[in-house]
Amino acid sequence: DQIEFIQASIMPGSKVHYFSTHKAAVAMFLDEMQEDRKTLPIFPYRERLLDAITKHQVLVIEGETGSGKTTQIPQYLHEAGYSKVGKIGCTQPRRVAAMSVAARVAQEMGVKLGHEVGYSIRFEDCTSDTTIIKYMTDGMLLREFLSEPDLASYSVMMVDEAHERTLSTDILFGLVKDITRFRPEIKLLISSATLDAGKFSDYFDGAPIFRIPGRRFPVDILYTKAPEADYLEAATVTVLQIHVTQPPGDILVFFTGQEEIEAAEEILKHRTRGLGSKIAEMIICPIYANLPSDMQAKIFEETPEGARKVVLATNIAETSLTIDGIKYVIDPGFCKQKSYSPRTGMESLIITPVSKAAAQQRAGRAGRTSAGKCFRLYTAWSFQNEMDDNTVPEIQRTNLGNVVLMLKSLGINDLINFDFMDPPPAETLLRALEQLYALGALNDRGELTKLGRRMAEFPLDPMLSKMLVASDKYLCSEEIVTICAMLSVGNSIFYRPKDKQVHADNARMNFHAGNVGDHLALLKVYDQWKETNFSTQWCYENYIQVRSMKRARDIRDQLEGLLERVEIEPTSNPSDLESIKKAITSGYFYHTAKLQKNGSYRTIKNPQTVSIHPSSGLSQVLPRWVVYHELVLTTKEYMRQVIEIKPDWLVEIAPHYYKLKDVEDAGAHKMPKGKGKATID
Ligand code: ADP
Ligand code: MG
Repeated sequence: DQIEFIQASIMPGSKVHYFSTHKAAVAMFLDEMQEDRKTLPIFPYRERLLDAITKHQVLVIEGETGSGKTTQIPQYLHEAGYSKVGKIGCTQPRRVAAMSVAARVAQEMGVKLGHEVGYSIRFEDCTSDTTIIKYMTDGMLLREFLSEPDLASYSVMMVDEAHERTLSTDILFGLVKDITRFRPEIKLLISSATLDAGKFSDYFDGAPIFRIPGRRFPVDILYTKAPEADYLEAATVTVLQIHVTQPPGDILVFFTGQEEIEAAEEILKHRTRGLGSKIAEMIICPIYANLPSDMQAKIFEETPEGARKVVLATNIAETSLTIDGIKYVIDPGFCKQKSYSPRTGMESLIITPVSKAAAQQRAGRAGRTSAGKCFRLYTAWSFQNEMDDNTVPEIQRTNLGNVVLMLKSLGINDLINFDFMDPPPAETLLRALEQLYALGALNDRGELTKLGRRMAEFPLDPMLSKMLVASDKYLCSEEIVTICAMLSVGNSIFYRPKDKQVHADNARMNFHAGNVGDHLALLKVYDQWKETNFSTQWCYENYIQVRSMKRARDIRDQLEGLLERVEIEPTSNPSDLESIKKAITSGYFYHTAKLQKNGSYRTIKNPQTVSIHPSSGLSQVLPRWVVYHELVLTTKEYMRQVIEIKPDWLVEIAPHYYKLKDVEDAGAHKMPKGKGKATID
């Protein structure tokens, strides 16, 4: 008799699997887990913590990563009866953490994931009517405010990983603080890993701080003697060095993203290939946001005797996830960060040095279960002199369009006086208002329009939402919803293995036949896949990542449901490419660029020099006028996902934003000032 929760749990292949054939064995396993819970640093504080929660409406909780805050506190609250009054909610800044922690807690409670314990992340709701402990991303809780502005179904809300200071968490602070005023019975917990507790307490009107002393073993910090030019190379060499010279213990390496992790994995596999039994077995476990959940589970599996686990992680392993058994940390000192210039309105992802606080967190991962070592791939001098003390909160370095639209839909009109913990730059706020006005989501008094209300229904950037709503007018909602879903998956549709790059590129170029542009190529990929009845074989043959396609299909299904909610009929005209492009332009007219004599581009408003990304189907074609989806900064500012447009569409689609002389070909390089600018009071 198989037990069902094991199947549904996202951790096949872990210890559970082994125990899963008999009910008695599972019971034994659960007992063992209950014993494990008691060994966590938070356990001795269980009663005191519950007392403090009874006494105070708002409590700031501070404790070392791995002490048990995320997995245990919601269970304690449930055991103490809070779940009889309402749900226990817990927010996480990261998708992967929400899923993984929910799975863990479901396991500890011996229930099926999605029943009593569930999670909700964008495009994936794994909860049900029986859910009493709900983990969710901070962004999802923000969206819940739209349907339940007083969080009436919750008895406790725990805003976890508060120190991460993501944009959504910062906005949540203001909203939940407000709720505590008119719902005296709701409990609010703000938990964090680092030393910002005082700041949180001040913000929440002097809420008491509950400290959970951590167990910390000493961690030796090692710096490089000289700066390393190539940290990817340096990191892989260090892994191998540790592997052959250091005593047992797993290794955790921090990278900035999926591409780096995959590259490192390849290098490590290549270098250890053929060494056979000359070295101990090395188990390489990547972990990043887009990794499928069955592979995420691998990082938690116990390392077999004699082998060594090497976890290649993004920032997610800094505080959101705790992996037991890590003894060595390799810290290249970088992370990928959003940056935003309110002057140009441009947002890009850039690789930047981490802060001192982040570096200390990273090092701390090595000393959780025994003494450890942290290898910093930078010099002691650069740590002292080149790294900021703390990471700048996201709210101060991102485009606020999304959040402003959300707050406006919640009826919060006076954004300048919103209770921000750290306010965003006024210029950024104005920019967001201006952009929403240009999109038609706000009127000239800054109030939400009917269009804006419809746009707010979608968990997407305002530009994408606008494109979806506009597809109604251009009678191509089927096509646009597909394009939206494909864009939302990110840049992981095309597969380009190192040894088959030529084949992969040829396969990719097939979808670009006729230089239709990247959006339409993505549409073609999806439609052809659909025609083969979603065939995996077809994906292999065409160098398409089947996993990404399945995700696109899921997202597409959800978006279709939302279209129905805002009463947009399915319409389709696959051969009318102009209409499809016009619908895209309706959302993205902000992102227009014109070809220059030297082959680079110049954006039309707030002129900037940009180029078409080499991965684009149009990178050799260089059309005169383009609309792009996003900018990425690598060696230069690149436009990624590009289509060609006709300049007069801009005047047709956004007459309040573009005047004829903005888009006239002759003399267009001279930028008229102050034309078509939105005014907002
Ligand atoms: P905190 O939130 O204080 O950082 P957690 O509650 O996340 O601590 O972690 C407590 C313990 O639970 C850690 O020892 C961690 O290894 C374990 N744990 C958490 N999530 C999982 C998981 N998905 N699989 C296995 N163990 C986990
Ligand atoms: Mg946690």
